[in-house]
Amino acid sequence: MLSAAALADLQQLFAADALTVDAAECLVYGYDNSRRQAAPDAVVFPATHAQVVALVGVCRRHRLPLVARGRGTNTTGATVPVAGGVVASFERMNRLVRIDRDNRLAVVEPGLLNADLQAALAPHGLFWPPDPTSAPFCTIGGNLACNAGGPRAVKYGATRDNVLALRAVAGNGLDFRCGTPTTKGSTGYDLTRLLIGAEGTLAVITEATLKLSPLPSDKRTLRATYVDVGAAAAAVARIMAQPVTPCALEFLDDECLRLARAHGGEAVPLAGAMLVIEVDGEPDTLATASEAVARAARGDGLIDLAIAQDAAAVATLWAARKALSPALRTLSPNKINEDVVVPVSRVPELVAATRALASKYALPIVCFGHAGNGNLHVNLLPRDAAEHARAEHALDELFDAVIRLDGTLSGEHGIGLVKRDFMPRALDPNALALMRALKRDFDPDGILNPGKLLP
Ligand SMILES: Cc1cc2nc3c(=O)[nH]c(=O)nc-3n(C[C@H](O)[C@H](O)[C@H](O)COP(=O)(O)OP(=O)(O)OC[C@H]3O[C@@H](n4cnc5c(N)ncnc54)[C@H](O)[C@@H]3O)c2cc1C
Repeated sequence: MLSAAALADLQQLFAADALTVDAAECLVYGYDNSRRQAAPDAVVFPATHAQVVALVGVCRRHRLPLVARGRGTNTTGATVPVAGGVVASFERMNRLVRIDRDNRLAVVEPGLLNADLQAALAPHGLFWPPDPTSAPFCTIGGNLACNAGGPRAVKYGATRDNVLALRAVAGNGLDFRCGTPTTKGSTGYDLTRLLIGAEGTLAVITEATLKLSPLPSDKRTLRATYVDVGAAAAAVARIMAQPVTPCALEFLDDECLRLARAHGGEAVPLAGAMLVIEVDGEPDTLATASEAVARAARGDGLIDLAIAQDAAAVATLWAARKALSPALRTLSPNKINEDVVVPVSRVPELVAATRALASKYALPIVCFGHAGNGNLHVNLLPRDAAEHARAEHALDELFDAVIRLDGTLSGEHGIGLVKRDFMPRALDPNALALMRALKRDFDPDGILNPGKLLP
């Protein structure tokens, strides 16, 4: 419950239509795609940097937890206000401040939707590489705080690789700018990269200067099917070992193909596994590039390799791939969607480990995702309470397997609430201690997104 004094301070700062303590409204801002929920005591809708500075001041004074929120699409409970307090929803702070074509950058407010940014950039012949499947309904602020990625990360990198500078307010009340609008910079510690992936636990981001890339003139999309997941996983390692870097290299196992076919129609083949491989560039380079990746894709266990002949065939492949995440919910409303990552050469071992766990725990487990980064969405699909209990054990062993393979817990979704307690397995104890020290410096009262990321 908010004290009368805290409520009065918030009312000083936010007009009546930018502050709510209504229980029903608060409830919907305490929910995210992890399907966990907790009610905040108030929700505010900041519109300016100055308002965020003042808001952090109020929260510090009253020791109120403060959770920044984009659109709540994260999968880890990162926006669930487990300690109550104030949720700051950035949905009204969503301006595209400017596009600077000469310097290939855009300045944006955190509440801007990823897809709205891409639509505004396209007429300038530019794009921002992070392309989460949730782009039409997730924000740049959420992308920054989770270090979001997507299929294009294999060539262009994830969020952390595509940001030049930030403006933010730390939990200790200090507001600051970090980074520069230049593509090189070697002036002190890299606070920009530190804040990216910090899940709103160190500072609240109020503005970002994003590094843009020129839109490639054309693309070629290839589809390769294999007798089994092992053969496809081995092809991934071969493709990534040759010089042409694809702009997407997605993997779908047999179960995913069956689902994708149900959603995408007969055009999706049935096989032991499939790779969707895309190359981009100038039109006269594409024949050579697609031949290079095709050569690497050929090998033991290949059933068929085809180049999509028209835009409709490409659209069908991607629509089927992108429908997978929601489609898996129909099989298992309580699915556990992990996004573990391993070195690319070890993808075959990761796939073998998930198969072994599925068999050991008699549990449906499917794999798909960004194989070119070694980043697979391993989905455990329990259908009843007994399977759910077994899934928890399987998950525990999956994380052990990933760490044995020199991988880590998350490639793009982040840690949030649900993976927090596994952090000591993934991190050197001294590295974890340094992270805790950083948290204390940035947020000495622990008001920013408490209970997340650090165990
Ligand atoms: C169908 C579906 C598909 C998805 N596909 C992908 C995918 O391909 N790749 C991928 O990476 N993710 C994917 N996601 C996950 C999710 O969309 C991303 O993590 C996204 O970046 C979250 O954005 P959001 O606006 O919803 O942020 P939220 O969920 O609201 O917040 C996420 C985190 O960001 C913090 N935050 C938000 N705004 C700020 C701010 N201004 N300052 C500081 N911290 C802030 C929050 O506190 C929280 O810790 C998918 C989700 C769904 C539902």
